[in-house]
Amino acid sequence: MSNLFYQSRQPRPFLDRGEGIYLFDQSGKRYIDGSSGAMVSNIGHSNPRVLAAMKAQMDRATFGYRLHFRTEASEDLAARTAALMPAGLDRVFFVSGGSEAVESAIKLARQYAITQGEASRWKVISRFPSYHGCTLGALALTGYDPLARPFDPMMRDMPKIAAPTCYLDRDNLTDDERGLKYAELLRAEIEAQGPETVLAFIMEPVGGASTGALVAPDSYYGRIREICDEYGILLIHDEVMTGAGRTGKFLAAEHWGIAPDIVALSKGFAAGYAPLGAMVARHDIVDAVLDAGGFLHGFTYAGNPLACAAGLAVLDEVERAGLVANAGAMGEVLKARLIGLMERYPFIGDVRGKGLLLAFEMVSDRDSMEPLPKGLNAHSRLVDIAYDMGLIIYSRRTRGGIEGDHFLICPPLIVTEAQVDEIMDLLTAALDAFADEAGL
Ligand code: PLP
Repeated sequence: MSNLFYQSRQPRPFLDRGEGIYLFDQSGKRYIDGSSGAMVSNIGHSNPRVLAAMKAQMDRATFGYRLHFRTEASEDLAARTAALMPAGLDRVFFVSGGSEAVESAIKLARQYAITQGEASRWKVISRFPSYHGCTLGALALTGYDPLARPFDPMMRDMPKIAAPTCYLDRDNLTDDERGLKYAELLRAEIEAQGPETVLAFIMEPVGGASTGALVAPDSYYGRIREICDEYGILLIHDEVMTGAGRTGKFLAAEHWGIAPDIVALSKGFAAGYAPLGAMVARHDIVDAVLDAGGFLHGFTYAGNPLACAAGLAVLDEVERAGLVANAGAMGEVLKARLIGLMERYPFIGDVRGKGLLLAFEMVSDRDSMEPLPKGLNAHSRLVDIAYDMGLIIYSRRTRGGIEGDHFLICPPLIVTEAQVDEIMDLLTAALDAFADEAGL
């Protein structure tokens, strides 16, 4: 019996050590970390340069409360982070994870509206499906019923528009037209809510676990920015999963030349070496809030020097090894290989994503995109079969209002072409075994 619990009782072996894209349990069995944990371990495990940087910081101080001291590690990381953002987004607020980054973004936006004499604005529109975190504020934005609805009545649920699940649409529109159609849902929702009540719109530029790496048509992103500007609504990009290089750009927003007003970062930002996240905002937003008396928000561990030293060393590593470019290049190789699986497995209905944020979705019929029967438990069976074979992948069963099984294949950004082959060999063996078992 273990005293520890997470979401459920799911005994897994004890982790012994990590090395690059591999993890080893205490029996010595090797696993390929094909999902970078939960899309976290961007630079791989046990990087000696990052460990040395952390050790050097540990030898000096592991904690200095932010109201008592500034630290070089947090100042330097803030400067480095700001330099990687679109122009104007140069104020950085450190947190310890993704949910905290999202909470911070909402509270900063709310205080900013008040300084602008717009206290009536408090609603944050988000998308369905989506995932923004598990704290109650972030959960109110999250469009994923299994995690959100059990907590109804939510402290304050927020309005949602459909995410651009274009791959399910059977109309005669072009991609561009579909992108605009979904973006216009935001305008309709703002009008329905009353524009004077709407504070912000939050979205994952490439969907994460809730949608299985959903990418909108190009036209979507610019139109969303335009609508936010038109109504004076802040655009928050939740780049907790997409940021720090995972999609082949440092921020996914760069793919579309979009500058959001506030960005939430975590996961790959310190790549699992320390719990770290950041909320990065436009300087005029932050200045307005600070000038009006201060940001009424802050976590005890914010700017923890050890976490920031890890974050700095991770950024060094991302730059030194050209990992953003590698995510783009290896992403193309891996995506082509995943698309290739569609020939062998008729139950793979869609392959999508950007860079090394990639996913495939299982269906019972490609034309109708009808999902596999729930009873097959595909999302957990394939994960378990692959795990036994030594490949870790990440799955969810959800999409739109309907149910479907999708699988994220998101190895660390250091992955090589030979390692992509290793991943594909194991994945194919797991899919064969699953197909046999499910009679597909
Ligand atoms: N936002 C997105 C897009 C995420 O993918 C996640 C986690 O999966 C979060 C927020 C929440 O991050 P955390 O689990 O670190 O609180």
